Amino acid sequence: MSRKKNKSSFLGLLIILAIVGGFLYVYFSSAFERKAPTIVVKNNGFWNLRTPLKVTISDDSGIKEYKIILKTKEGSTELEHEEPLTADKLINIELKPPRTAYTMKDKDIEIVVMARDISKWNLLEGNSAQKIFKLHIDKKRPQVNIITNSYKISLGGSAIVIFKALDENMNQLYIETGAKRKFKVEPFYKENYYIALIAWPIIDSTFRATIVAKDKAGNITKSYVPLYLKKRAYRLSKIKIKDRFLKGKIADLAEEFEETQGVFKPIEQFKIINEDVRAKNEALIHKITSEVPQNMISSFHIKPMYPLKNGQVVAHFGDHRKYYYNGKFVSEAYHLGLDMASHAMAPIITKNAGKVVFADYNGLYGNDPIISHGLGLYTLYGHCSSLDIAVDDAVSANAKIANTGKTGYAMGDHLHFGVLVQGVEVRPQEWMDKQWIKLNITDIIKSAKKSIDKE
Ligand SMILES: [Zn+2]
Repeated sequence: MSRKKNKSSFLGLLIILAIVGGFLYVYFSSAFERKAPTIVVKNNGFWNLRTPLKVTISDDSGIKEYKIILKTKEGSTELEHEEPLTADKLINIELKPPRTAYTMKDKDIEIVVMARDISKWNLLEGNSAQKIFKLHIDKKRPQVNIITNSYKISLGGSAIVIFKALDENMNQLYIETGAKRKFKVEPFYKENYYIALIAWPIIDSTFRATIVAKDKAGNITKSYVPLYLKKRAYRLSKIKIKDRFLKGKIADLAEEFEETQGVFKPIEQFKIINEDVRAKNEALIHKITSEVPQNMISSFHIKPMYPLKNGQVVAHFGDHRKYYYNGKFVSEAYHLGLDMASHAMAPIITKNAGKVVFADYNGLYGNDPIISHGLGLYTLYGHCSSLDIAVDDAVSANAKIANTGKTGYAMGDHLHFGVLVQGVEVRPQEWMDKQWIKLNITDIIKSAKKSIDKE
């Protein structure tokens, strides 16, 4: 009797264990996983009905079935319905709009994506997921009209462009030039009008300016800016490096820069200073001078620049300097400013008002204050012995800002005068020329305003 009882309770235990084991197996087995598929539709809330929508469905066990439906106020259309036999864990779909979508009136649609996995969970039904993506339809390309622009641009020079750009969902607006360089634009005069200074970098052999307008739905309009290109010849100088120079200025600078610590060969020190230190100093200058204000402006007045009274030009903008040592080429650089000298520690005057964006020591450039004059136009004053200004100061026209000197990479007391347009060094002579400013900047702005007023 008791043996029989023991036997049956043992059997009961076995059954319970089997049930628990079964449950545990189902619960932890990958065949019964309980995670629903993940659905992603790459979008920013807009669709132009041209670029396919990228739909991604993923699941740990594999996808058994998926369905994509387009919903508008007028009704629903099934775009896709698949039951892949391979039960992939990842499915990428390039969803094209149905033909009917082009004629539909509804601008706001829904893309409904449903997916089910091959898991045996849910009484073998699997886990299912559904996601709704609300999209605004925008098929219209941005509208771009050039109002006016400078007639020409010179290699190393500047130009101005004024245009109209219109789109309900504008996302990006800029001017692209040949070397994939982008110039920012600033709102001008009235709504939907823009202005930009652009520059032809001296190291780019060709130039082509294109206004690029992109909306949120990915519609793009590109408009070519008709500019007459004027090539300019810049000087190529071959410079022999003398030991006296290496033992003097270069040895002094080598002590100062971290890049030359532990480098003892004078010609190596020169190469590092002329290339690595210069690149670092110029990168800082380019970063500081890349900003363009985004407030709407209705005018832009610039007076001819003339920073140093009776300053004699001692080195030109754009000189391509090639350095040789013992008959061998060692390094090269472009001189990206205009060097002027009068007497030692001569006063430096800014002819134009502006805001000080940098007033510090910057390696080869020594003390080189930088002033922003608006519209992405900046002036830079290198090798100063002393500064009268500090960052964020507002300077008025004709203010004395500093004294010339020989800080940084300078042999004698002089001013390295730099002009930059959105981080690109340009020929200072243009901005020192009253006639050039009138013809290429002031008159263009005047005629643009006249045209805009007529529209
Ligand atoms: Zn210079």
